[in-house]
Amino acid sequence: MARKFFVGGNFKMNGTKESIKSIVKGLNEAQLDSNVEVVIAPPALFLQLASSELKKDNVAVSAQNVYDKPNGAYTGEISVAQLKDSDIHWTILGHSERRTLLGETDEVVASKTKFAIDGGVSVIWCCGESLEEREGGNTISVIERQLAALAAKVSGDDWKKIVIAYEPIWAIGTGKVATVQQAQEVHEAIRKWLRANVSEAVADETRILYGGSVNGKNCKDLAKEKDIDGFLVGGASLKPEFIDIVNSNL
Ligand code: PGA
Repeated sequence: MARKFFVGGNFKMNGTKESIKSIVKGLNEAQLDSNVEVVIAPPALFLQLASSELKKDNVAVSAQNVYDKPNGAYTGEISVAQLKDSDIHWTILGHSERRTLLGETDEVVASKTKFAIDGGVSVIWCCGESLEEREGGNTISVIERQLAALAAKVSGDDWKKIVIAYEPIWAIGTGKVATVQQAQEVHEAIRKWLRANVSEAVADETRILYGGSVNGKNCKDLAKEKDIDGFLVGGASLKPEFIDIVNSNL
């Protein structure tokens, strides 16, 4: 079953109007592999700017977060309906920076994921272990716990709107990329878990991205692994090498 390669750019809390325009211009002018689905996630303030500047059909714009209430007194939050109203059809959820710095639990992330999907917004759902959890031999059990919370909330066709991003926390922004073997091992475990606990179809069809210090140099080897279906890129998504990452299969 062919899974379309997917590359996400997570700009995090970086950028200005000018720099976002320049990144989008770079994407508009680049030769991008047409077999790759590309999604860029600028800060909320620049979602509409990025989307109005984009001229490529296979590049979409994503939020970095969304709230799981329809509207109301939730200062600082953005709703799924507001994203849709602004023609934004993707959001990242459960990034480890939000889990650790902002206290989002597995259940909160799962609830937001379900809410986004029900409102017609697809989700790049992130999971990953800390260094301490990896060194304690708990990587797979942590990922399985995160997946179980998700699977308790979503079902059936919801999975078609989820892309999983495996991002070991110790590899994010550190320059310490997981080895090809370490990444493939966890991706395979995620697929195995989906096969055992959700369905054969979901295991075969769900894209599993790797994230954590991906760059223009290490992407090619990672992309060759059979269970690595793309990347979620932080730092390098702000640089011209993002194009090389999108084209890592060429
Ligand atoms: P990084 O971030 O590529 O800068 O390590 C990845 C992410 O946090 O999504």
